[in-house]
This record gives sequence, C-alpha cells and structure tokens, in this order.
Amino acid sequence: MNDESVALRASTGCSDAPVLRERGQREVFCGLTSIVWLHRAMPDAFFLVVGSRTCAHLLQSAAGVMIFAEPRFGTAILEEQDLAGLADANAELDRVVAEVIARRPGLRHLFLVGSCPSEVIKLDLARAAERLTARHGPAVRVLYYSGSGIETTFTQGEDACLAAIVPTLPETDALQLLVVGAMPDIVEDQARRLLSGLGLPAVAVLPSRAESGPVAVGPGTVVMAVQPFLGDTCAALRRRGATILPAPFPFGEEGTTAWLRAAASAFGVAPDRFAAVTDAPRARARRAIAAQAAPLRGRSVFFLPDSQLEIPLARFLTRECGMTAIEVGTPFLHRELAGPDLALLPAGPRISEGQDVDRQLDRVRADRPDLTVCGLGLANPLEAEGLATKWSIELVFSPVHFYEQAGDLAGLFARPLRRRALLQAGGRT
Ligand code: SF4
Repeated sequence: MNDESVALRASTGCSDAPVLRERGQREVFCGLTSIVWLHRAMPDAFFLVVGSRTCAHLLQSAAGVMIFAEPRFGTAILEEQDLAGLADANAELDRVVAEVIARRPGLRHLFLVGSCPSEVIKLDLARAAERLTARHGPAVRVLYYSGSGIETTFTQGEDACLAAIVPTLPETDALQLLVVGAMPDIVEDQARRLLSGLGLPAVAVLPSRAESGPVAVGPGTVVMAVQPFLGDTCAALRRRGATILPAPFPFGEEGTTAWLRAAASAFGVAPDRFAAVTDAPRARARRAIAAQAAPLRGRSVFFLPDSQLEIPLARFLTRECGMTAIEVGTPFLHRELAGPDLALLPAGPRISEGQDVDRQLDRVRADRPDLTVCGLGLANPLEAEGLATKWSIELVFSPVHFYEQAGDLAGLFARPLRRRALLQAGGRT
C-alpha cells in the first residue's frame, strides 16, 4: 500500500466500515421521553399525550421536577371503554383540548402525541389535529406526531415533533442559516453569539423560543442540525426548498470548529474573521478538555445503541480524549447527517445499527470495555458485573454542545471512571 492510499484511508475513517445490522429485542425509552426537554425549548407549546396510565407514569417519573411547576404537558388517558368506541374517544379528546386551551392563554402550538395504545386502537390523531385546528385556529395550531414505543426511540420523538412543525412554517426567500435541534437556552445563546460574530446575514433556530418569533423557511435557507437524530426534520425542510449542510456535530473543540467552519464556508466568511471569532474559545475548550480527559486516555469505550448521538460522541472521545472505541452502536444510521463524523472516526471499531440486546451484551461481556455507554435499563446489570457505565440519556438532557461545554462533556464520561477507581481503591464517592 503506498502512502497516498494510507492517507486516503485515514481521511475516510469509518465511512466504508462494514455495518453490522441487528434486529432483535430493544431496550430503549419511547419517543414520549423527548417531551421532557422539548417543553423547555418551546415555552408556547403544550404536549398532550393520548395514551394510557403507563404513558402518564413514564412522563411523570422522567420529568418529576415538573410537579413543582405548572406543567405544559399532560396525558389524555385512554380508558378501556375507549377501545370499544372511537367516537367517544374523539369527543373526550375534543373536550380535553378545549380545556387545556382555555386554561393557557398564549399557547401557539398544541401537540397531540400518539402512543402505543392510540396506535393500537387506530385513533386517527392526524385527522383529530386538523379538526381541532379548524376549531381553535388561527390562535392555536394543533399538530400530531407519534411518540409510540412501537416505532420510536426516545430521541426520535424530537425528530417527529419538529418534522410536524415544518409544513406549517411561513415561506421566505431570505438568505439565512437555520439551526435545527432543541438546545438549552444557555447553549443556544452561545451558538447565536458565535454565529453573529461570524457575521452571518440571519440566524434562526428551530424549535424557536417564543420571543424569537416564528421561523420561516424557503430556498434561501441553509440548514445545519445540532443533533444527528433529525433525519425526518431535515427531509421535511428539504421539501420546503432548504439546503441541508452536513458537518461534524458541535461536540468538543474539533467538532464545534468543524461545524462553524462549514457554516462560515457556506456564507463566505473570511478566514481571518473566522480565526478572530474562534481562536480564543477553541483554546479554552482544549484546556477544559485536557483538564477532564486524563482518566479517559488509553481507555476503551463501547457504545450500545440508544440516543443516536453515538457516532459523533465516539469521534469526540477517540480524537479529543484519547479513548479507543471497540464498538459504536446506533439505533439508526442517518448517513447524510452522521457521515462527516463517521469519516473522522478512526478506523477500527465495529459499527452496528439497530438493536439485539442479548447479542450486544454478549459482546460487551467478551470485550470488557473500560466504559460502556448505554440506556438506563442496562446500566445497573452491567455495573453489577463490574463494568463502568454512562447513561446515554444524560447526554441528551445536559448542555454538551459547542466550545464552552466541551470540558463538561469530557467530564461526563470521566466521572464513572473516576468513581470506579475510587471504589477499587477502597474509597467512597
Ligand atoms: S408510548 Fe408505549 S412505550 Fe411509551 S410509555 Fe406509552 S405504552 Fe409505554
């Protein structure tokens, strides 16, 4: 093999790696879980889950803190008699929606969120949303998406929700960058500061906070996702004439710089301006990662498929924190969105798509990685077997994007290794 072909392989990373496709038993939260962070990102929306008491319990326990606040989500419980009469279920739904809207002036969106029970009894929530928009619009738009665990993992709930909004967005011809994906306010503010420093003509974010006004979309819109699980949303935006700009995701110093550089290139930002805006935060991010990453260097990591963040996070841990990836599993591999991170991921790990939990656990036990990133349900049994774990759901709840969070992101992975080292040394956490 000559030098050139070696260089080529290095530059394509895992792009051409064979993908192990698995279909079997799954252990993931359903799409309803995403309501826990979506309701914070959309202060003028209400999420009405049309489901069973199980769905209500999931939401209450996943979002337990909300019992202290006026919640902006609820559950319209389907009782057993609803299974016999869909007409009654629709009448009850209309009543509950009217009540929610009357109690909350200022609502702009009400989402009917489908669940396993509503899908099983074939309650047509898409049609119900049209009927209710006709009744309550234009003040409140009623939209439908599915969060059912039959079809979705927990991050797909956000994708389905945002994809449902896209057809309702007003049209614009203006040149703009549309950043897609729910972010904590502090992270969104940082992203906006960086992008406005680069001098982009206009920047919008979907989902939009109430005060930033409605987002418009059209042929002058360049879309950059901040989460790799937004494939349906990007497809819906493309149907509205927008251009999707793939880039590594803004995790860590390298990912953030590559993401910003893609935006800068698309809008013709001069290199010296790019350097002026990014040099200082890049250096800060590198220092912050170095301060956290010592326990990660030279250690191995195994990602079980859960959040769909696995590929960009594996890129971050291997290239910026000195870890070795043994296996990177993801529930769905959106090649268009995850491609740039896959190309940067150093060749070597198994790449798997889908879930067959028993076979994957067998591989974890055989490989005995230093750190396993997995869903909540799998973490305790693996810890009991002496393996250090990280809950992947925490990476979706926590502020982890862009430069100022890069050190915290490394710290989230370092903590379980530090804790295990302390336990092994006979100390206490
Ligand atoms: S939508 Fe399905 S998986 Fe999710 S809580 Fe309800 S019944 Fe359970």
